Amino acid sequence: MNPPSETCNICRRILDCENDPLSTDCGGDCWGCIGEIEADMGCEYSLRKVREEYSSGLRPDWIPSPNVVLTQSGSGATHILVEFVHPSGGVWPEVEFTLSFDSKDVPKNQSKTIESVVLVADRGGAAQYEYSFPKLKRNNTAWVSVELQSMTWSKPVLGCDTDA
Ligand SMILES: [Zn+2]
Repeated sequence: MNPPSETCNICRRILDCENDPLSTDCGGDCWGCIGEIEADMGCEYSLRKVREEYSSGLRPDWIPSPNVVLTQSGSGATHILVEFVHPSGGVWPEVEFTLSFDSKDVPKNQSKTIESVVLVADRGGAAQYEYSFPKLKRNNTAWVSVELQSMTWSKPVLGCDTDA
């Protein structure tokens, strides 16, 4: 009798499945998951492979994390720069995405959207926006989220004023 098939700890895909090139066992997780994580962490080799797999249709839903840079302006507003790179590695012009401004109740681990806007990136795939967070309640932190298709990336706003 064959032992039961091992599955990926993250997505439960059956590992080392002959007909599934993304199922390679990477220490308990599949290459499908690990490749995307490593590509997002900046691993050149993984990024190159994941792009190839996207281009050959193996990862139709993959979107690389955009570069999100948050800076506090002198007036207390948060300046947001978002730069998208197309999954194939090229420029991704005029992407439409949603930018949300959230407050997160840290003890309860609950997020609430204060406001959101739909933006379109420029021809180079970049967009900028400036937002002034309202004064947040005690134990709440400010976050900026970028939503595109089924993906959401969130980043904390450091140095934001709260009722501490
Ligand atoms: Zn997996």
